[in-house]
Amino acid sequence: VKAGQSQSTLHAQDEKYIWHSMKPYNPDGTMVVTKAEGSWISDSEGNRFLDAMAGLWCVNVGYGREELAQAAYEQLKDVAYFPLTQSHVPAIKLAEKLNELLEDDYVIFFSNSGSEANETAFKIARQYHQQKGDQNRYKIVSRYRAYHGNSMGALAATGQAQRKYKYEPLAPGFVHVAPPDAYRDEDTGKEAHELTAVKEIDRVMTWELSETIAAMIMEPIITGGGILVPHDDYMKAAKEVCEKHGALLIVDEVICGFGRTGKAFGFMNYGVKPDIITMAKGITSAYLPLSATAVKREIYEAFKGSEEYDYLRHINTFGGNPAACALALKNIEIMEREQLFQRSAELGDKLKSDLKAHLQDHPLVGDIRGKGLLVGIELVKDKKTKEPLGVGKVNEIINFCKKEKLIIGKNGATVAGYNNVLTLSPPLNIEIEDLDYIVQTINRAFEQVK
Ligand code: PMP
Repeated sequence: VKAGQSQSTLHAQDEKYIWHSMKPYNPDGTMVVTKAEGSWISDSEGNRFLDAMAGLWCVNVGYGREELAQAAYEQLKDVAYFPLTQSHVPAIKLAEKLNELLEDDYVIFFSNSGSEANETAFKIARQYHQQKGDQNRYKIVSRYRAYHGNSMGALAATGQAQRKYKYEPLAPGFVHVAPPDAYRDEDTGKEAHELTAVKEIDRVMTWELSETIAAMIMEPIITGGGILVPHDDYMKAAKEVCEKHGALLIVDEVICGFGRTGKAFGFMNYGVKPDIITMAKGITSAYLPLSATAVKREIYEAFKGSEEYDYLRHINTFGGNPAACALALKNIEIMEREQLFQRSAELGDKLKSDLKAHLQDHPLVGDIRGKGLLVGIELVKDKKTKEPLGVGKVNEIINFCKKEKLIIGKNGATVAGYNNVLTLSPPLNIEIEDLDYIVQTINRAFEQVK
């Protein structure tokens, strides 16, 4: 199969051989992408689309960067593979660089995907307590609406019932609490609601018995569950609650990391020091699979001096692949050289304020929120009741944009039919004209819907 073959032949072969996830997201068939450059992707018929969803896979430096391909190529020629039961230079350099970005002392375990990074975090958290002689701490607390991965543990931590119920029973020992949702919990007002959300963590940890809790996992901003931006004090207060109950705080930076929210890592917006940080996607701008679990040195130290068979029993064949690590280093170099974290913060503010200027008063727009180039537009049937807009109408907007060569996402799903948050997350180096094109196109889409 070659690019240049007609779209219909490619579609037929695609239909025949590939099992895609999220089929209902593509009622007109899947798009066969044959070229990608900057913020734009092209299909096999040469149609070009602006990819304002790239941030969900975190192509943070944009597509088609020669330097990244070159870095991987050079490394593949040198040492294509060696497992990290031993070591190699790109992994060492990357671990050191990540420490610099994290601005603290972390030891890095490499894997290939966000799910694996989270599984690694759960195992380390559980074993850490055992290393310290505390055999009872195994529960992981997470939040409804968050997504943490597709494997049986990471899916158990996920708080989206519709992704889970076909596959249960999942791994036991996972407990959920409500996320902060300042827009929907209007009765108490934003400030009070955030405190309620933190109190909820405190109460659940108490009811579950503190001495059974190993850790809590949270994204700085819940992404897949609808771009839920917490109050500035929420994370700090949640960390204090974790400390009170003797639980570790794991922060999932799989989407928020590497500049998406305007800082190197999302937690840096909120003044906390997590115990464990998981990252993936943006670490290589999604060019190659790589993920990492960064663990505070004190936690690592607790594993030292163990008997051979009591040491961390977790291994990963491809984790920390040399080419992926070399590419990640170059990717971070580009982000620093082009000051993309700062650019994300600035362009994110512009995107939000431009959207608000055009759409705030539209009857279907309930809320426009986000941080950096991660922006959500929550759609409602009625601004007063906040009843979520049905999926048909949401799709009308998305399909209009697609016809106008703009790809945007939707999320927020907690149950079927509650998928009412448009998601905008273009590459961090998006051109200003392209950012304007996003706003203008969405604005036109809203003019069309009744
Ligand atoms: N955590 C978060 C916040 C995610 O958004 C995702 C993927 N969308 C994952 C974990 C899982 O990552 P992966 O698909 O690479 O396993």
